[in-house]
Amino acid sequence: MHEASIALSVLEIAVDNCRKAGYNRIESIRLKIGRASGIMLDALLFAFNAVKADTIAAEASVIIDEIPVSGLCSSCGKDFVTEEKYILCCPECSSASFNIKTGRELEIIDMEVF
Ligand SMILES: [Zn+2]
Repeated sequence: MHEASIALSVLEIAVDNCRKAGYNRIESIRLKIGRASGIMLDALLFAFNAVKADTIAAEASVIIDEIPVSGLCSSCGKDFVTEEKYILCCPECSSASFNIKTGRELEIIDMEVF
C-alpha cells in the first residue's frame, strides 16, 4: 500500500529530526500534501496511526495542509488554480501545454516536539 510506505517515511523523518534536535516526544506533525500527489489522505492518516504506535510519535497528531493544483499555461501565459485533482488542459484556453506549479507536494512543514 502506497500510503503505508509514505506514512512510514514521514514517521522516520519526524523521529529522526526530533532526536537530532534533542527531543524525545513528537506532539504534532504538519504535512503539506498536493491534491495531485495521488495520496489518499484518509488512508495516509490511517496508516500513520498504525505505524506511530510504540514510537516517540505515539501521541502525535497529523495536520494536513492540502495544496490545490495550480499551473502556468505555456500557450496563453495565464496562471491558474483548480479545485480538480488532475488537470488535462488550461482552463482559460484549453491548451494542453502547461506547467504544473503546485499540487504534487509531499513535505513535512513543521512539527512540535517536547
Ligand atoms: Zn491557456
